This record gives sequence, C-alpha cells and structure tokens, in this order.
Amino acid sequence: MKPIQMVDLQTQYIHIKDEIDSRIAPVMSTATFVKGPEVELFARNLEAYTGAKHIIPVGNGTDALQIALMALGLKPGDEVITPTFTFIATAEVVALLGLKPVVVDVDWETMNISVEAVRRAITPRTKAIVPVHLFGQCADMEAILTLARENGLYVVEDACQAIGCHYTFTDGTQKQAGTMGEIGCTSFFPSKNLGCYGDGGALFTDSDELAERIKVIANHGMTVRYHHDLIGVNSRLDSIQAAVLNAKLPHLDSYTLARQEAAARYDEAFRDMPCLLVPGRNPQSEHVFHQYTLRLQGLDRAAVQAYLKEAGIPSMVYYPIPLHLQKAYADPRYREGDFPVAERLAACVLSLPMHTCLTDEQMDYIIQNVKQAVAKSAI
Ligand SMILES: *Cc1c(COP(=O)(O)O)cnc(C)c1O
Repeated sequence: MKPIQMVDLQTQYIHIKDEIDSRIAPVMSTATFVKGPEVELFARNLEAYTGAKHIIPVGNGTDALQIALMALGLKPGDEVITPTFTFIATAEVVALLGLKPVVVDVDWETMNISVEAVRRAITPRTKAIVPVHLFGQCADMEAILTLARENGLYVVEDACQAIGCHYTFTDGTQKQAGTMGEIGCTSFFPSKNLGCYGDGGALFTDSDELAERIKVIANHGMTVRYHHDLIGVNSRLDSIQAAVLNAKLPHLDSYTLARQEAAARYDEAFRDMPCLLVPGRNPQSEHVFHQYTLRLQGLDRAAVQAYLKEAGIPSMVYYPIPLHLQKAYADPRYREGDFPVAERLAACVLSLPMHTCLTDEQMDYIIQNVKQAVAKSAI
C-alpha cells in the first residue's frame, strides 16, 4: 500500500502529468510569465465554471480577502464580523487594514458561522460580514444575505476551502460558493480543492464597478500606466500557475466527487460510533470536503493521533486555537469562555486524510485504525 498522506499531490500530478506539462511548456517557450494569455484564459474558464460575472485572479487567497475589503472602501474602525473558528487569514487582513475584527461563535454541527451570533454582533459601525465556508460546506448564506440586506452590510465570502460547492436557496436557485455575496474570495494553494503548484487566488464578483476597482487595486492602484488613482497592492496569479489551473479545472468535478465518495465511506464507518461525530450537514449546501473533520467525544485526541501516527496515518487539528484566543489578536473585549462552541470544537476536532487519490485499500486501513485508536483512547 502506498504511504498515506493528508493530501497526495504527487499521485494526482502523475495522473495528469501530460496535460499539465504540455500546458506549462508554451508559457516557458514564450516567456509570458506574468500577465500572459493563460491568466486571462483561466479567468474566463473559471467564470464559465462558477457562473460569476467577473473573476479576477490574484497572488493568493489572503490577498484576495484583503483586496476585497479595500475595494469595498472600508475605513479604519469599521467593524467586520468573522467567525472565530477559522484559518487566521480571514481576520488577519481585517486587522492589517486597520478595520476592527468582530469575531463570533459558530454552529456545533456545521462548524460554520452562527447567524444568530452575527445578528447579536451587529452595531452601527458594522460594515461587512465575512462568512467562511469552512472545510468545504457553505455557511448559512440565505440567512446571512437576508441579515446583511436588512442592515446594509456587505458580504465577502471566504470560499478558499469551498470552490465548486453548490448552495440552494429556498426558491430553488442554486449558486456556487463565492458567487453569492458582493465579493467572493478563493485560494489555489496546492492543497486546496483546486490547487496550483505554488500560490494563487481569485476574487469573484457580479458587479462591473467592483471588478474594475479590484483589478486596479491588485495592480498598484494603477489606472493608466504610472497613474495611480487608488492605493493598491501588487498581487497577481503568474502564468505558470494559471496554466496548471487551466489543466486542472476540467478535472474539478471528478476531484470533488472523489472527495465526496471518500467522505461517504468515512460517514458510513463512523456514523454509529457515539464517540465520533461525523461532519454535520447544512441541508441547503453541498459539501465538497476540503477536509473531513470529526468531533471526538470522550476521547483523548492526542492519544488517537499518536495511535494513528504509529500506524502511518497522518491526522490534523484544524484549528487548535480560535481567533479570540490567539496571542496576536488578544483583545480586552474577549476572554476564554466567550465563544463556547468554537472553544469546544478547537478542543475536539480531528481531520482525517482527504484527497482525490485515496484508494479502497487506504480507506479501509484508515477506518480500521481509527476504530482501534478510538477503542484505546477513551478518557
Ligand atoms: C487557505 C485559506 C486562506 C488563505 O489562502 P492563501 O492562498 O493561503 O493565502 C484563507 N481563508 C481560508 C479559510 C483558507 O482555508
């Protein structure tokens, strides 16, 4: 059996090596490394795939989030609501821009931002909500968009873990992650569901005006060459990464399916075990399983991880410390106990290997060892 990894990018590459290599080669031979035709083509391809009117590729997902908040013209002191249980980038860019991150608790089942908590956190200074589609499942977007509309707030979706995830509104309309708020942001970091071979990201918007501002901001705030109308940044997807993404995008649906099939096997194996809670589902959202994350009940997580490691099975804790307990984000407004669900999740979540090339043999081996680990790790 091939060694088990959290994410197996080598095997995935070997399957599509010819497609990738033949797409990269012309970028090399034409030396169109920056702003080459592959980048434009990728933007058009991803627009067709997601249904977003405008896709603006940038350097990474964190930049996408930062540029989104800049494009909305938020001012220092404006409050931006984010979940406290997420990857740090979501709040980092808020803080970097001098905006005020307001963190809120999450839902125990879906692990996504709690709409009730958002409602309670809105003040006259609130300008935007940044829901994160954590682990590949959309947040409760219908309720979030309604709340935002009622309060005149922008919604910037952090869709870094959820590209291609479909969400269904009660009227039957379907939209993809990143295409529901004013702006959506995604990342093409290699391990993301659509990953390139370095760093990459993109913004999604249906607004012509925002798309124009985003393009200008991502390019040093430059409208006409060497005329800078806005303060911007330098953030671009390079052509080699765009070529990789053009080769991989046609495979995204089958990659998503492979993740969903692996998740279904995990669900099936663990559903009836009281000490393992399988990922809770939002009935309005698909789940594209960027991560498969269990909640351990009455188990010593470190012991489970040690047992799995001994068996050659990696596992990860996403995320061990909620934002409000991070040193850099220490804030007199928040203390331990303020966001009990997030704190409980941080203490009990465990993500299992999840990628597009898990074999039956590997899955059986992981499942069998998780069951054994659990039997030995009760507290
Ligand atoms: C990966 C990720 C980001 C940042 O993306 P980068 O491309 O690594 O900058 C932001 N938010 C979430 C939820 C992520 O998973």
